[in-house]
Amino acid sequence: MSRRVDASTAVDFVLLLPELLSSLMVMGLLGSFLMPRSPWLIAVVWLLASALIFLPAAEKVFARMKFRVRRPNESELGHLLRPWTSVCRVAGVPHDRYTLWIEESDGVNALAAGGHIVAVTRSALRLPPPQLEAILAHELGHHLSGHAWMAHLGWYYSVPARLSVRLAALVLRVLDAVGRFLGRLGFAFAELAVGLCGLFLLIALISLNPWLLLLPVTSLLLAWSSRLAETRADRVAARLGYGQDLVDVLRMWMRNQVGPSPRGRRALLATHPSHQVRIAKLMGHMHKP
Ligand SMILES: [Zn+2]
Repeated sequence: MSRRVDASTAVDFVLLLPELLSSLMVMGLLGSFLMPRSPWLIAVVWLLASALIFLPAAEKVFARMKFRVRRPNESELGHLLRPWTSVCRVAGVPHDRYTLWIEESDGVNALAAGGHIVAVTRSALRLPPPQLEAILAHELGHHLSGHAWMAHLGWYYSVPARLSVRLAALVLRVLDAVGRFLGRLGFAFAELAVGLCGLFLLIALISLNPWLLLLPVTSLLLAWSSRLAETRADRVAARLGYGQDLVDVLRMWMRNQVGPSPRGRRALLATHPSHQVRIAKLMGHMHKP
């Protein structure tokens, strides 16, 4: 099975552009402070460095820091390598293109990240081999469809913009506290001056990060794209012959689910479709001639 960028990856790329532009402006601003003679140098180096984030050494650091995963021990590798090799053989991809990781968690789950990361929870290792292969096939689907590397690139490109928002939010909170303190002391003029500083900072923040104004819409689109990515990864697993085993895993999750599936706005912001929707779509894929 060949690697193919799907609609979800394309949507994520388009939605990433406003944050990427803001990050470039943030890096440009940083450059104009640190290197006034060539203010865009830092931004250009940062942009070019995005090619390095897919190097194995960089992905190892990313996997450990962002997902808190670790490399499998000998016994875990013994449980994991055979099903993974089997899935890769069916898909026609080399199994050693990817690195296997373990997440310390009691729930049964798995993830695909970066260009080469595939992780399963410790509990997932106790699944019957066909079901473990099914969730691994789903994760391979994320890699083959471009979801994992686009998310990785999106994370990297959004870091400066998001850090600028966090920093501004922190300064705004401090200004708010100082303003209230001065107000309690009766320095009304100073309180007004601090308030105006906060207002200017807010205007500067929005000018630097206009994507913040789009958040109510982009967060809905990103969630929709994420749900689409899940059904696309399920479809890959079904095409590889793991449809029924994946349905069995989803039914197990349904039995263990606490509380009802999200509804209304929560459903619109959910990153995964409900188990029922996934099962229905998988059944559709399996019964297609
Ligand atoms: Zn998934």
